[in-house]
Amino acid sequence: MRRLLLLIPVLLAALLPAACSGTITAAADSLPRVQADSARLMRVVGALAHDSMQGRATGTPGAALARNLISQELAAAGVTPLGSGFEQPFEFSRSGVRVQAANVLGVIRGSQWPDRYIVATAHYDHLGVRNGEVYNGADDNASGTAALLELAHWFAGNRPQHSIIIAVLDGEEAGLRGARAFVEQKPVPLGDIVADINMDMVGRNASNELFAVGTCQYPQLKQYVREAARAATITLRYGHDGCVAGQEDWTWMSDQGPFLQAGIPFLYFGVEDHPDYHQPTDDVGRLMPRFFVAATQLVIDVTRRLDLTR
Ligand SMILES: [Zn+2]
Repeated sequence: MRRLLLLIPVLLAALLPAACSGTITAAADSLPRVQADSARLMRVVGALAHDSMQGRATGTPGAALARNLISQELAAAGVTPLGSGFEQPFEFSRSGVRVQAANVLGVIRGSQWPDRYIVATAHYDHLGVRNGEVYNGADDNASGTAALLELAHWFAGNRPQHSIIIAVLDGEEAGLRGARAFVEQKPVPLGDIVADINMDMVGRNASNELFAVGTCQYPQLKQYVREAARAATITLRYGHDGCVAGQEDWTWMSDQGPFLQAGIPFLYFGVEDHPDYHQPTDDVGRLMPRFFVAATQLVIDVTRRLDLTR
């Protein structure tokens, strides 16, 4: 009998997560369905990937134009600056030259756990102008940036429980510089960050497939992806995180890398490379709006389900 009594907490502990996650799923399913504003999404990606942004290379006037647009969109969504202003300046050396760069950081304060943070990231910089050709980077990564702004609009209208940091990063193409600067400058204590949700190339895929990277390192995050994928009109695939032998490992291929290095769990959403990857042909006309909207909604849905768990 005594041994049985001793077992009760063990049994409860085993049962509780399932019971809890069941409750979380029910709670999440009772929330309004995530609906992205497809017209706004396409307007923003079109503006970021327009020739006037000159391919948004870090340290150029084109990148500054992009930052202005991003800050205006955040303010219009009702997102407040994380710091004194939206910009988080940083600099780094590239072939002996100091490069001035800046992340754009906003925050939506949480109702239940305001001092615990989910950081949502996407880089806005791209390759600029090369041999007289503008590399507009519509998929890489104007798509992720526009999707991140859509996520900001959603949480500004549906108050989260955690505080959500919107981190639109610079310098990714130069070696994940913006993510490194964020982690180094610690705008909030890193220990208070629950997870990083990163988007890089979410605008098109010929097989209608989006990858979720990071559930190998953080299996506890898989349930949120699985649940969100149930309602999605695109196929969600897991991988590129070292669990599948022979498959390219994307863990350090985008801005989640420095967060992982700082011990912060992550999920990265992105598509397989396509023929226009890092080509001057990566233009808006080659995006797939239905896929893009569905991918955006899926990532917002994952984030809101994660938000329901302390
Ligand atoms: Zn990218």
